[in-house]
Amino acid sequence: MSPFKRERVRIRGIVQGVGFRPFVHRTARNCGLCGFVRNDASGVILEIEGEPDGLQRFHGALARDAPPLARITGCEIEELPATGEPGFRIVVTDQDGTATTLISPDISLCDDCRRELLDPGDRRYRYPFINCTNCGPRYTIVRAMPYDRPNTSMAAFPLCPDCSAEYHDPDHRRFHAQPNACPVCGPSLALVAADGGGLRTDDPVASAVELLREGRIMAVRGLGGFHLVVDAGNDEAVRELRRRKGRAEKPFAVMAPNTETVERYCEIGPEERHALEQPTRPIVLLKARAGAGPAPSIAPGNRYLGFMLPYTPLHELLLAGGFPALVMTSGNLSEEPIAIGNGEALERLGTLADYMLLHDREILQRCDDSIVRVAAGKERMIRRARGYTPTPIFLPSPTDHNILATGAELKNTIALTRKDTAFLSQHIGDLDNPAAMAFFEHTIGHLGQILRIEPELIAHDLHPEYLSTKWATSRDDLPRIAVQHHHAHLAALMAENGVVAPTIGLILDGAGYGSDGTVWGGEILVGDFGRFDRYAWLETVPMPGGAAAIRQPWRMALAWLRAAYGDQALKLPIPVRDRFTDGELLFRSMDRGINSPLTSSCGRLFDAVAAILNLRHEIAFEAQAAIELEMAATDVPRERVQPYELPPQRGRRGPVPLAWLIREIAGDLKTGSPPGLIAARFHTTLAALLTETVLAAARATGIAAVGLSGGVFQNRLFFLDVLDRLESAGMNVLTHSLLPAGDGCIALGQTVVADVQWRRTKGE
Ligand code: ZN
Ligand code: ZN
Ligand code: FE
Repeated sequence: MSPFKRERVRIRGIVQGVGFRPFVHRTARNCGLCGFVRNDASGVILEIEGEPDGLQRFHGALARDAPPLARITGCEIEELPATGEPGFRIVVTDQDGTATTLISPDISLCDDCRRELLDPGDRRYRYPFINCTNCGPRYTIVRAMPYDRPNTSMAAFPLCPDCSAEYHDPDHRRFHAQPNACPVCGPSLALVAADGGGLRTDDPVASAVELLREGRIMAVRGLGGFHLVVDAGNDEAVRELRRRKGRAEKPFAVMAPNTETVERYCEIGPEERHALEQPTRPIVLLKARAGAGPAPSIAPGNRYLGFMLPYTPLHELLLAGGFPALVMTSGNLSEEPIAIGNGEALERLGTLADYMLLHDREILQRCDDSIVRVAAGKERMIRRARGYTPTPIFLPSPTDHNILATGAELKNTIALTRKDTAFLSQHIGDLDNPAAMAFFEHTIGHLGQILRIEPELIAHDLHPEYLSTKWATSRDDLPRIAVQHHHAHLAALMAENGVVAPTIGLILDGAGYGSDGTVWGGEILVGDFGRFDRYAWLETVPMPGGAAAIRQPWRMALAWLRAAYGDQALKLPIPVRDRFTDGELLFRSMDRGINSPLTSSCGRLFDAVAAILNLRHEIAFEAQAAIELEMAATDVPRERVQPYELPPQRGRRGPVPLAWLIREIAGDLKTGSPPGLIAARFHTTLAALLTETVLAAARATGIAAVGLSGGVFQNRLFFLDVLDRLESAGMNVLTHSLLPAGDGCIALGQTVVADVQWRRTKGE
């Protein structure tokens, strides 16, 4: 009788292209097991045979020591009769990778590769495309599944004998590393002038470093697209980049060589350190130390700086050039998608950059840098893209059909589902230009292709004018479900948190098309995936001038001051009055409903208060006024801030009155209170008022779970205040962490709502 046991183990998750099979190979041999491992359609299959004790140790190692990029989502074990098979093999299949194989996102340079990169004795010394099974490009170089070199943009680079030997050696850390390359066989750099003329240099990196030191602007082709790069310590160069990009004020992201350098400029706690150093390498928003930014023009007027650490070997080499940090901003004009191709860059970035550092490994998927911040001890996604896409999000219940959700209009992302797995695309951006629409369409096709998901149902926003809606309704080959914007926010939050039970949603954002045709944006909803009830909303005011009121916060100040004071609003002795030269005219338009849609938007309320406090009357980028209001409030010590006294009728169903709060604010201003203090009192009063309303909804419905979603919660001061108040009151508070609180989460919410509504229409 053989004491040996044999098992077949099926492992699902991100287990391909991450060094999983060599890991299994090593582990099996260490445990004295024989058998084999191979990739299959749904992940990895292995059979192991040996002493029961060896099998047990193997499972322990599987749980404990799996490769850093692997993510196991399921594991089934089946007992088989022992076969007496000798040795352990990696079976290399060319089998079609249908169904549910998951592809890894792009991952930053690992420590082993960094060591080789900086080792003068290594054959890849200073080679800017070094990578291994634990690091390097993935999502951005994939053309099709299965994830094998011929299906990536590395297909153009046949392996040299040395690289090929590594690639085929199961004991090598580059075994089946699809992007494996070296200076002999792999991609290479070229340094050119902005007009495309090549520069004579033996070492493009060293020459690029010299040019950057001279204050030149360099377009650098990276992992998911081009960056525009300048020396962050050179304020003149930073200002020149602003001038050319036509970007006067919006903060630039900065890359520093290491955490110690970031610490010189910013306050970093353990969570921030982790956020910076994790292999996904996002931009992390960090509180700046007073007057300590590398250059004043990097983030004028902002108390936060966006820092990231190098994530490609090329970044490491550039930063080794002795810069305090490098500005690394997206290679684009204003809000267009980033450039990814060499020709495209020469065309689009030629007027922005002095030089270009190009390479010849094609970028197949455009992918911006991700942005996170830490709040209440957790990482909060602000822009989800490189390093995260296409890591799936697991839904609390499986969708019945494969669903494509087309998302919102601004900060668009799209989503695809297959059963209980949802894939959110990278940040696509604002769909207001043809280039962004092309990116949107390409992403829908490409994501479907590499995930092998054929959509059976389309979910889209209720807003008939969103370009994402129009695209969806043009697809008349598939059934479609329209989803209300704030319902999608609530559903996304629930799905992200694995919740299906009815939840109260405090949804605060800039705008979304309401079920009644008005512009919603300050909503307390009660509902689940299938339905929602609008329990309460911010008092509505007209937006004088429509979309112009978004760009010109003084218009919202006018609307709110009129709600508070009637026509006397024009005579108030406060600075914003100077903007009201057309006040009478706008009043008449508002009365007649001409170009003055009603809104319950919380974002517009923040804008109005920023303008009333004379902080910002016109904006250069989205949410600028609200951000400056937050910054002004943040500077005030907490103990000095008292909320205004809440009115007795608070907490009722229906509109939440706010004109009284505007009177308090304007009154405070007239008596000479500093704007920062008033801003802080506004923040905490609104937090208190909305908390009371949520608690009233909780009492009325018996629901103790409340979720916070919408772009307003990217206001850290306000978010922490609301969270603290609700938790102190004993509520179970759901917050976003994996997904942005802004409209980047909408597509996910649309999928789960559409799933339930579609089943209902079919009578299930
Ligand atoms: Zn590596
Ligand atoms: Zn090679
Ligand atoms: Fe929204």
